[in-house]
Amino acid sequence: MTQKPGWRELPIGGHLHEPGSSLKYKTGPWRTYKPVLDKAKCTKCLLCWIYCPEPSIDRTNDGIEINYDFCKGCGLCASECPVKAIVMVEE
Ligand code: SF4
Ligand code: SF4
Repeated sequence: MTQKPGWRELPIGGHLHEPGSSLKYKTGPWRTYKPVLDKAKCTKCLLCWIYCPEPSIDRTNDGIEINYDFCKGCGLCASECPVKAIVMVEE
């Protein structure tokens, strides 16, 4: 059995030890439903980009892309899309 670190070795909770560390903390695995984009329907209005709370929607030259590393599957993008170009599907 491997020895687990004791309380003296554990980092103090709620402290940030380096800037930008949230990029390493991928929240995508929390998801049970994922947004799937139909690029043919997308009008590039960017409402999904505005409403995404993470933000997990990247602007591209081609419109948008969903970053599944950080998307938690809340479904806001799908519910706000005026042309229903995003649908939520079970993982
Ligand atoms: S809200 Fe819908 S139409 Fe607008 S950019 Fe997002 S996916 Fe495309
Ligand atoms: S499901 Fe939620 S977190 Fe994921 S891209 Fe849509 S709005 Fe953002």
